[in-house]
Amino acid sequence: MSFDVAAIREQFPILKREIDGNPLVYLDNAATTQKPQCVIDALVDYYTTCNSNVHRGAHRLADEATRRFEAARDIVKDFIHAPKREEVIWTTGTTEGINIIANGLSQLLSTGDEVIATGMEHHANLVTWQQACKASGATLKTVPVTDDGELDQTAYEALLNERTKFVAFPHVSNALGTVNPVKAMTAKAKEFGAWVLIDGAQGAAHCKVDVQDIGCDFYVFSGHKIYAPMGIGVLWGQASLLENWPVWRTGGEMIATVTLQNATWNVLPYRFEAGTPNVGDAIALGEAIRWFSALDHHAVVAHEKALLDYATELAENFDGLTIIGNAKHKIGVLSFVMDQGHPADIGFLLDRQGIAIRTGDHCAQPLMTRFGVPGTARASFSLYNTLEEVDILFAALKKVRSMLA
Ligand code: PMP
Repeated sequence: MSFDVAAIREQFPILKREIDGNPLVYLDNAATTQKPQCVIDALVDYYTTCNSNVHRGAHRLADEATRRFEAARDIVKDFIHAPKREEVIWTTGTTEGINIIANGLSQLLSTGDEVIATGMEHHANLVTWQQACKASGATLKTVPVTDDGELDQTAYEALLNERTKFVAFPHVSNALGTVNPVKAMTAKAKEFGAWVLIDGAQGAAHCKVDVQDIGCDFYVFSGHKIYAPMGIGVLWGQASLLENWPVWRTGGEMIATVTLQNATWNVLPYRFEAGTPNVGDAIALGEAIRWFSALDHHAVVAHEKALLDYATELAENFDGLTIIGNAKHKIGVLSFVMDQGHPADIGFLLDRQGIAIRTGDHCAQPLMTRFGVPGTARASFSLYNTLEEVDILFAALKKVRSMLA
Protein backbone atom coordinates (compact mmCIF):
# COMPACT_ATOMS: atom_id res chain seq x y z
CA MET A 1 0.00 0.00 0.00
CA SER A 2 1.37 3.44 -0.85
CA PHE A 3 0.51 6.77 0.71
CA ASP A 4 -1.16 9.27 -1.61
CA VAL A 5 -1.54 12.53 0.28
CA ALA A 6 -3.53 14.18 -2.53
CA ALA A 7 -6.07 11.35 -2.41
CA ILE A 8 -6.24 11.65 1.38
CA ARG A 9 -6.83 15.39 1.19
CA GLU A 10 -9.71 14.84 -1.24
CA GLN A 11 -11.52 13.03 1.55
CA PHE A 12 -11.44 16.04 3.91
CA PRO A 13 -13.95 18.62 2.66
CA ILE A 14 -12.81 21.34 5.06
CA LEU A 15 -9.35 21.39 3.48
CA LYS A 16 -10.91 23.06 0.42
CA ARG A 17 -11.75 26.14 2.50
CA GLU A 18 -10.16 29.48 1.94
CA ILE A 19 -9.37 32.03 4.63
CA ASP A 20 -9.42 35.62 3.33
CA GLY A 21 -8.61 34.36 -0.15
CA ASN A 22 -5.76 32.10 0.99
CA PRO A 23 -6.03 28.33 0.91
CA LEU A 24 -6.47 27.01 4.45
CA VAL A 25 -3.25 25.55 5.85
CA TYR A 26 -4.43 23.64 8.88
CA LEU A 27 -1.57 23.02 11.31
CA ASP A 28 -3.51 22.75 14.55
CA ASN A 29 -3.95 19.00 14.51
CA ALA A 30 -2.78 18.42 18.06
CA ALA A 31 -5.77 20.50 19.18
CA THR A 32 -8.18 18.60 16.96
CA THR A 33 -8.02 16.84 13.62
CA GLN A 34 -10.33 17.43 10.70
CA LYS A 35 -12.89 14.79 9.71
CA PRO A 36 -12.96 12.73 6.52
CA GLN A 37 -16.21 12.58 4.56
CA CYS A 38 -16.85 8.97 5.58
CA VAL A 39 -16.93 9.97 9.27
CA ILE A 40 -19.28 12.88 8.56
CA ASP A 41 -21.43 10.47 6.51
CA ALA A 42 -21.49 7.88 9.32
CA LEU A 43 -22.80 10.50 11.71
CA VAL A 44 -25.39 11.84 9.29
CA ASP A 45 -26.45 8.32 8.34
CA TYR A 46 -26.98 7.37 11.98
CA TYR A 47 -29.24 10.36 12.58
CA THR A 48 -30.94 9.93 9.21
CA THR A 49 -31.68 6.23 9.42
CA CYS A 50 -31.58 4.76 12.91
CA ASN A 51 -31.33 7.35 15.67
CA SER A 52 -32.63 5.63 18.76
CA ASN A 53 -31.71 4.93 22.36
CA VAL A 54 -29.55 1.84 22.71
CA HIS A 55 -29.85 -1.39 24.67
CA ARG A 56 -33.41 -1.16 25.90
CA GLY A 57 -35.61 -0.57 22.88
CA ALA A 58 -38.04 -3.25 21.73
CA HIS A 59 -37.98 -2.02 18.16
CA ARG A 60 -35.96 -2.15 14.94
CA LEU A 61 -34.30 1.25 15.22
CA ALA A 62 -33.07 0.51 18.74
CA ASP A 63 -31.71 -2.83 17.56
CA GLU A 64 -29.85 -1.22 14.67
CA ALA A 65 -28.47 1.60 16.80
CA THR A 66 -27.33 -0.89 19.45
CA ARG A 67 -25.68 -3.09 16.86
CA ARG A 68 -23.74 -0.19 15.31
CA PHE A 69 -22.84 1.22 18.73
CA GLU A 70 -21.47 -2.09 20.00
CA ALA A 71 -19.72 -2.78 16.68
CA ALA A 72 -17.83 0.49 17.16
CA ARG A 73 -16.67 -0.81 20.55
CA ASP A 74 -15.26 -3.89 18.80
CA ILE A 75 -13.42 -1.67 16.32
CA VAL A 76 -11.77 0.20 19.21
CA LYS A 77 -10.93 -3.06 20.95
CA ASP A 78 -9.09 -4.34 17.87
CA PHE A 79 -7.42 -0.96 17.25
CA ILE A 80 -5.72 -0.88 20.65
CA HIS A 81 -5.44 -4.67 20.84
CA ALA A 82 -7.45 -4.86 24.05
CA PRO A 83 -8.01 -8.40 25.28
CA LYS A 84 -11.74 -7.91 26.00
CA ARG A 85 -14.46 -5.75 24.44
CA GLU A 86 -16.00 -4.95 27.84
CA GLU A 87 -12.76 -3.19 28.79
CA VAL A 88 -13.54 -0.43 26.27
CA ILE A 89 -15.51 2.29 28.07
CA TRP A 90 -17.04 5.18 26.13
CA THR A 91 -16.24 8.57 27.61
CA THR A 92 -16.55 12.15 26.42
CA GLY A 93 -12.79 12.28 25.88
CA THR A 94 -9.36 11.90 27.46
CA THR A 95 -10.20 14.29 30.28
CA GLU A 96 -13.21 12.27 31.38
CA GLY A 97 -11.33 8.97 31.14
CA ILE A 98 -8.61 10.29 33.43
CA ASN A 99 -11.20 11.70 35.83
CA ILE A 100 -12.98 8.34 36.08
CA ILE A 101 -9.75 6.68 37.17
CA ALA A 102 -8.72 9.58 39.43
CA ASN A 103 -12.10 9.54 41.15
CA GLY A 104 -11.62 5.88 42.04
CA LEU A 105 -7.99 6.36 42.94
CA SER A 106 -8.83 9.07 45.47
CA GLN A 107 -10.88 6.42 47.32
CA LEU A 108 -8.24 3.69 47.05
CA LEU A 109 -5.15 5.61 48.22
CA SER A 110 -4.24 6.80 51.68
CA THR A 111 -1.52 8.75 53.47
CA GLY A 112 1.92 7.37 52.71
CA ASP A 113 1.00 6.24 49.19
CA GLU A 114 2.71 7.94 46.26
CA VAL A 115 1.56 8.87 42.77
CA ILE A 116 3.95 9.78 39.96
CA ALA A 117 3.09 12.03 37.02
CA THR A 118 5.48 14.05 34.89
CA GLY A 119 6.54 17.61 34.20
CA MET A 120 5.27 17.42 30.62
CA GLU A 121 1.61 16.71 31.35
CA HIS A 122 -1.40 18.32 29.81
CA HIS A 123 -3.32 19.73 32.79
CA ALA A 124 -5.86 16.94 32.34
CA ASN A 125 -3.22 14.40 33.39
CA LEU A 126 -1.86 16.45 36.27
CA VAL A 127 -4.56 18.43 38.05
CA THR A 128 -6.63 15.23 38.32
CA TRP A 129 -3.82 13.47 40.23
CA GLN A 130 -3.24 16.56 42.37
CA GLN A 131 -6.88 16.41 43.39
CA ALA A 132 -6.82 12.64 43.97
CA CYS A 133 -3.76 13.05 46.19
CA LYS A 134 -5.30 15.93 48.12
CA ALA A 135 -8.46 13.92 48.71
CA SER A 136 -6.65 10.74 49.79
CA GLY A 137 -3.60 12.09 51.60
CA ALA A 138 -1.23 10.53 49.05
CA THR A 139 1.83 12.38 47.77
CA LEU A 140 2.30 13.46 44.15
CA LYS A 141 5.79 13.30 42.66
CA THR A 142 6.71 14.44 39.17
CA VAL A 143 9.35 13.30 36.71
CA PRO A 144 11.51 16.23 35.53
CA VAL A 145 11.91 17.13 31.86
CA THR A 146 15.37 17.43 30.28
CA ASP A 147 16.53 20.42 28.22
CA ASP A 148 15.71 18.43 25.09
CA GLY A 149 12.14 17.90 26.24
CA GLU A 150 12.46 14.27 27.24
CA LEU A 151 11.44 12.67 30.51
CA ASP A 152 14.49 12.20 32.73
CA GLN A 153 14.51 8.42 33.00
CA THR A 154 17.16 8.32 35.73
CA ALA A 155 15.07 10.65 37.87
CA TYR A 156 11.99 8.55 37.11
CA GLU A 157 13.68 5.39 38.35
CA ALA A 158 14.81 7.21 41.48
CA LEU A 159 11.21 8.28 42.24
CA LEU A 160 9.84 4.73 42.04
CA ASN A 161 9.68 2.76 45.27
CA GLU A 162 7.39 0.38 47.14
CA ARG A 163 5.11 3.29 48.15
CA THR A 164 4.43 4.11 44.49
CA LYS A 165 0.86 3.05 43.81
CA PHE A 166 0.06 4.84 40.57
CA VAL A 167 2.04 6.24 37.64
CA ALA A 168 0.64 8.44 34.86
CA PHE A 169 2.44 9.81 31.80
CA PRO A 170 1.64 10.92 28.25
CA HIS A 171 2.30 8.71 25.25
CA VAL A 172 3.16 11.84 23.25
CA SER A 173 3.54 15.39 24.60
CA ASN A 174 0.97 17.73 23.08
CA ALA A 175 3.23 20.73 23.66
CA LEU A 176 6.57 19.32 22.42
CA GLY A 177 5.78 16.23 20.38
CA THR A 178 8.09 14.04 22.48
CA VAL A 179 7.23 10.36 22.13
CA ASN A 180 7.84 8.73 25.50
CA PRO A 181 9.23 5.21 25.98
CA VAL A 182 5.89 4.01 27.33
CA LYS A 183 6.67 0.31 27.35
CA ALA A 184 9.94 0.71 29.27
CA MET A 185 8.39 3.20 31.69
CA THR A 186 5.47 0.86 32.32
CA ALA A 187 7.83 -2.06 32.97
CA LYS A 188 9.75 0.00 35.55
CA ALA A 189 6.54 0.95 37.37
CA LYS A 190 5.43 -2.68 37.32
CA GLU A 191 8.60 -3.72 39.18
CA PHE A 192 7.02 -1.92 42.14
CA GLY A 193 3.48 -3.17 41.44
CA ALA A 194 2.15 0.31 40.58
CA TRP A 195 -0.84 0.83 38.33
CA VAL A 196 -0.02 2.68 35.10
CA LEU A 197 -2.23 5.05 33.12
CA ILE A 198 -1.13 6.39 29.75
CA ASP A 199 -2.61 9.58 28.38
CA GLY A 200 -2.95 8.63 24.74
CA ALA A 201 -4.61 11.85 23.55
CA GLN A 202 -1.70 12.54 21.20
CA GLY A 203 -0.58 8.94 20.83
CA ALA A 204 -3.55 7.23 19.25
CA ALA A 205 -3.38 9.08 15.91
CA HIS A 206 0.40 8.82 15.50
CA CYS A 207 1.70 5.70 17.23
CA LYS A 208 0.75 2.06 17.04
CA VAL A 209 -1.15 1.39 20.26
CA ASP A 210 -1.04 -2.14 21.62
CA VAL A 211 -2.11 -2.03 25.24
CA GLN A 212 -1.10 -5.64 25.84
CA ASP A 213 2.36 -5.09 24.45
CA ILE A 214 2.81 -1.86 26.44
CA GLY A 215 1.64 -3.63 29.58
CA CYS A 216 -0.21 -0.65 31.06
CA ASP A 217 -3.41 -0.83 33.13
CA PHE A 218 -5.27 2.11 31.60
CA TYR A 219 -5.03 3.89 28.24
CA VAL A 220 -7.21 6.90 27.44
CA PHE A 221 -7.75 8.90 24.27
CA SER A 222 -10.13 11.34 22.55
CA GLY A 223 -12.00 10.66 19.34
CA HIS A 224 -11.64 14.19 18.02
CA LYS A 225 -7.85 13.89 17.78
CA ILE A 226 -8.15 10.83 15.59
CA TYR A 227 -10.51 12.09 12.86
CA ALA A 228 -13.74 11.48 14.82
CA PRO A 229 -16.21 14.00 16.28
CA MET A 230 -15.75 15.83 19.56
CA GLY A 231 -17.58 14.54 22.61
CA ILE A 232 -16.54 10.91 22.35
CA GLY A 233 -13.48 9.17 23.74
CA VAL A 234 -12.23 5.92 25.17
CA LEU A 235 -11.07 4.67 28.52
CA TRP A 236 -9.49 1.26 28.25
CA GLY A 237 -8.66 -0.56 31.47
CA GLN A 238 -7.83 -4.07 32.56
CA ALA A 239 -11.11 -5.82 33.37
CA SER A 240 -9.74 -7.19 36.64
CA LEU A 241 -9.18 -3.61 37.84
CA LEU A 242 -12.24 -1.93 36.34
CA GLU A 243 -14.55 -4.59 37.79
CA ASN A 244 -13.64 -3.39 41.27
CA TRP A 245 -12.79 0.25 40.58
CA PRO A 246 -15.10 2.66 42.44
CA VAL A 247 -17.95 3.74 40.20
CA TRP A 248 -17.97 7.21 38.72
CA ARG A 249 -21.28 8.73 37.66
CA THR A 250 -24.37 6.94 38.92
CA GLY A 251 -27.73 6.64 37.21
CA GLY A 252 -29.38 4.55 34.53
CA GLU A 253 -27.53 1.82 32.63
CA MET A 254 -24.70 1.47 35.18
CA ILE A 255 -26.89 -0.34 37.74
CA ALA A 256 -27.85 -4.02 38.05
CA THR A 257 -30.58 -3.76 40.72
CA VAL A 258 -32.07 -0.81 42.59
CA THR A 259 -34.14 -0.63 45.76
CA LEU A 260 -35.27 2.52 47.50
CA GLN A 261 -32.17 2.47 49.69
CA ASN A 262 -29.55 0.64 47.68
CA ALA A 263 -28.18 -0.28 44.28
CA THR A 264 -25.80 -2.83 42.81
CA TRP A 265 -23.63 -2.17 39.78
CA ASN A 266 -23.85 -3.45 36.24
CA VAL A 267 -21.07 -5.45 34.57
CA LEU A 268 -18.41 -3.83 32.39
CA PRO A 269 -18.46 -1.73 30.31
CA TYR A 270 -21.85 -0.39 31.46
CA ARG A 271 -20.65 0.01 35.07
CA PHE A 272 -18.94 3.23 33.88
CA GLU A 273 -21.49 4.32 31.28
CA ALA A 274 -24.26 5.99 33.29
CA GLY A 275 -27.03 7.64 31.31
CA THR A 276 -27.77 7.74 27.61
CA PRO A 277 -24.50 7.34 25.75
CA ASN A 278 -23.27 9.40 22.82
CA VAL A 279 -24.37 6.81 20.28
CA GLY A 280 -23.89 8.76 17.05
CA ASP A 281 -20.40 9.94 17.90
CA ALA A 282 -19.34 6.47 19.08
CA ILE A 283 -20.45 5.08 15.72
CA ALA A 284 -18.56 7.88 13.95
CA LEU A 285 -15.45 7.11 16.03
CA GLY A 286 -15.73 3.50 14.94
CA GLU A 287 -15.83 4.69 11.33
CA ALA A 288 -12.85 7.02 11.88
CA ILE A 289 -10.78 4.17 13.28
CA ARG A 290 -11.90 1.82 10.53
CA TRP A 291 -10.81 4.46 7.99
CA PHE A 292 -7.52 5.19 9.75
CA SER A 293 -6.67 1.52 10.27
CA ALA A 294 -7.14 0.80 6.57
CA LEU A 295 -4.23 3.13 5.79
CA ASP A 296 -0.68 1.84 5.66
CA HIS A 297 0.46 2.74 9.18
CA HIS A 298 4.16 2.75 8.29
CA ALA A 299 3.51 5.06 5.36
CA VAL A 300 1.47 7.42 7.57
CA VAL A 301 4.25 7.56 10.17
CA ALA A 302 6.89 8.07 7.48
CA HIS A 303 4.87 10.91 5.94
CA GLU A 304 4.32 12.63 9.29
CA LYS A 305 8.01 12.21 10.12
CA ALA A 306 9.01 13.72 6.78
CA LEU A 307 6.81 16.74 7.52
CA LEU A 308 8.34 17.23 10.97
CA ASP A 309 11.91 16.65 9.75
CA TYR A 310 11.48 19.20 6.98
CA ALA A 311 9.84 21.75 9.29
CA THR A 312 12.60 21.21 11.85
CA GLU A 313 15.29 21.75 9.23
CA LEU A 314 13.69 25.01 8.09
CA ALA A 315 13.20 26.11 11.70
CA GLU A 316 16.82 25.41 12.59
CA ASN A 317 17.94 27.70 9.78
CA PHE A 318 15.46 30.46 10.56
CA ASP A 319 17.06 33.48 12.28
CA GLY A 320 15.40 34.47 15.51
CA LEU A 321 13.45 31.22 15.92
CA THR A 322 14.07 28.76 18.76
CA ILE A 323 12.56 25.30 18.80
CA ILE A 324 11.26 24.22 22.20
CA GLY A 325 11.66 20.47 22.56
CA ASN A 326 14.37 18.60 20.68
CA ALA A 327 13.63 15.06 21.76
CA LYS A 328 15.27 12.29 19.77
CA HIS A 329 11.90 10.63 19.27
CA LYS A 330 9.31 13.21 18.25
CA ILE A 331 6.17 13.20 16.17
CA GLY A 332 3.71 15.72 14.83
CA VAL A 333 4.63 18.87 16.74
CA LEU A 334 6.95 21.84 16.12
CA SER A 335 6.81 24.18 19.11
CA PHE A 336 8.80 27.39 18.87
CA VAL A 337 9.31 30.94 20.02
CA MET A 338 10.62 33.90 18.03
CA ASP A 339 12.83 36.76 19.22
CA GLN A 340 10.70 39.26 17.33
CA GLY A 341 7.34 38.69 19.02
CA HIS A 342 4.97 37.00 21.38
CA PRO A 343 3.48 33.67 20.25
CA ALA A 344 0.00 35.23 20.22
CA ASP A 345 1.17 37.81 17.65
CA ILE A 346 2.71 35.07 15.52
CA GLY A 347 -0.57 33.13 15.58
CA PHE A 348 -2.58 36.22 14.68
CA LEU A 349 -0.35 37.18 11.76
CA LEU A 350 -0.26 33.61 10.42
CA ASP A 351 -4.05 33.45 10.54
CA ARG A 352 -4.15 36.53 8.28
CA GLN A 353 -2.31 34.38 5.75
CA GLY A 354 -4.67 31.41 6.08
CA ILE A 355 -2.45 29.38 8.39
CA ALA A 356 -3.96 27.84 11.51
CA ILE A 357 -1.55 27.08 14.36
CA ARG A 358 -2.01 27.18 18.12
CA THR A 359 -0.33 29.56 20.53
CA GLY A 360 -0.20 29.73 24.30
CA ASP A 361 0.66 27.32 27.09
CA HIS A 362 -1.05 24.31 25.46
CA CYS A 363 -2.63 23.39 28.82
CA ALA A 364 0.87 22.62 30.06
CA GLN A 365 1.79 25.55 32.28
CA PRO A 366 4.42 23.69 34.35
CA LEU A 367 6.17 22.70 31.13
CA MET A 368 6.20 26.30 29.88
CA THR A 369 7.65 27.36 33.25
CA ARG A 370 10.29 24.64 32.90
CA PHE A 371 11.41 26.16 29.59
CA GLY A 372 11.08 29.74 30.84
CA VAL A 373 8.57 30.77 28.18
CA PRO A 374 5.05 32.17 28.60
CA GLY A 375 3.91 29.93 25.79
CA THR A 376 4.93 28.77 22.34
CA ALA A 377 3.70 28.87 18.79
CA ARG A 378 2.85 25.29 17.85
CA ALA A 379 2.48 23.91 14.35
CA SER A 380 1.15 20.37 14.56
CA PHE A 381 0.97 18.03 11.61
CA SER A 382 -1.39 15.35 10.43
CA LEU A 383 -1.36 12.83 7.64
CA TYR A 384 -3.14 15.23 5.25
CA ASN A 385 -0.51 17.97 5.52
CA THR A 386 2.03 18.45 2.75
CA LEU A 387 5.63 19.58 2.40
CA GLU A 388 4.30 22.53 0.37
CA GLU A 389 2.29 23.58 3.41
CA VAL A 390 5.49 23.55 5.47
CA ASP A 391 7.02 25.86 2.85
CA ILE A 392 3.96 28.12 3.05
CA LEU A 393 4.31 28.22 6.85
CA PHE A 394 7.95 29.32 6.69
CA ALA A 395 7.37 31.85 3.92
CA ALA A 396 4.61 33.30 6.09
CA LEU A 397 6.88 33.28 9.15
CA LYS A 398 9.40 35.34 7.21
CA LYS A 399 6.70 37.95 6.66
CA VAL A 400 5.74 37.75 10.35
CA ARG A 401 9.37 38.29 11.33
CA SER A 402 9.67 41.43 9.22
CA MET A 403 6.32 42.74 10.40
CA LEU A 404 7.29 42.28 14.05
CA ALA A 405 10.90 43.47 13.73
N1 PMP B 1 -3.87 15.06 27.19
C1 PMP B 1 -3.22 15.50 26.11
C2 PMP B 1 -1.78 15.10 25.91
C3 PMP B 1 -3.88 16.32 25.20
O1 PMP B 1 -3.23 16.77 24.12
C4 PMP B 1 -5.23 16.66 25.42
C5 PMP B 1 -5.97 17.59 24.48
N2 PMP B 1 -5.26 18.72 24.10
C6 PMP B 1 -5.86 16.15 26.56
C7 PMP B 1 -5.15 15.35 27.41
C8 PMP B 1 -7.29 16.43 26.84
O2 PMP B 1 -8.10 15.92 25.83
P1 PMP B 1 -9.63 16.29 25.73
O3 PMP B 1 -9.68 17.79 25.81
O4 PMP B 1 -10.05 15.78 24.39
O5 PMP B 1 -10.33 15.63 26.86
